[in-house]
Amino acid sequence: MGSIENHRMAPGVALAEGPCLVCGGFLGNSALPGLLRCEACGFVTANVSVSDEELERIYGEDYFHGNEYLDYQAEEKSLRQNFRDRIRTLMAKVENFGDSDLFEIGCAYGYFLAEVSADVRRASGIDISADAVAAARDKRNVDAMCGDYLNHELGRTVDVITMWDTIEHLKRPDQFIAKAASDLKPGGHIALTTGDIDSLNAQFRGKNWRMIHPPTHLHYFSVATLTSLLSRHGFEVVHASHPGNSRNLRSILYYIMVLRLKRPKVYEALNASRLFDLRIKINLFDIMFVIARRQA
Ligand SMILES: [Zn+2]
Repeated sequence: MGSIENHRMAPGVALAEGPCLVCGGFLGNSALPGLLRCEACGFVTANVSVSDEELERIYGEDYFHGNEYLDYQAEEKSLRQNFRDRIRTLMAKVENFGDSDLFEIGCAYGYFLAEVSADVRRASGIDISADAVAAARDKRNVDAMCGDYLNHELGRTVDVITMWDTIEHLKRPDQFIAKAASDLKPGGHIALTTGDIDSLNAQFRGKNWRMIHPPTHLHYFSVATLTSLLSRHGFEVVHASHPGNSRNLRSILYYIMVLRLKRPKVYEALNASRLFDLRIKINLFDIMFVIARRQA
């Protein structure tokens, strides 16, 4: 957890050298400390400056082991169940989904690719974490590669691009959306999930909202600002919902005892109990699932 803490909010360092990534408007202070808000469209972004080297370090081997995710691999069952739910929505909303060439940005350990591979014609993906990609290829036998999507030549246009809980981590989400638009066939779809800062839970929690943690989460979209960004790059939103997530109790315990209350010893003492293997479905309605169609 150390590396995340060390990177938290360098005071007075402004990310906002450029204008709002969504609309080009001016980024002013927001009601939330450390976050800036576009005066024109309301887009919220972290007031931090992160170098590419720092980001590389953050997403090294440690990232998926407790920095942000409780042993991500141990969560496989829950994650795959959540992906199965999203695939069901994709099947309902995307014409000829079964015949699609699907590309995933931020494929991590390959759980989604493994889950979706039987449902589409071709499934492949990219992730910046070499450790995660190695596991995706070796353990899940999926077509994953390590690299930065922005510098990756796809060599073809695809039918569907997915970005699960990824856009909030990107330094320049606008550049990713622009490249995704050019990598998709006309009429192709992009599907994303990310926190919704306009949700009731986010508003109620304020600065303590669970999704606010720079520098891993740099951007805080709402349905409105994500829709604006997508429209600006030639997409039409065809679906927006707030699906719940299935989690096991252990990850919730970890979140509360270790990340929030800073009591890792209590967590370790309770962790041995099989009770925490139970899975429950939680919906705080603060994570949005958006599907958008590239206009011809
Ligand atoms: Zn704006």
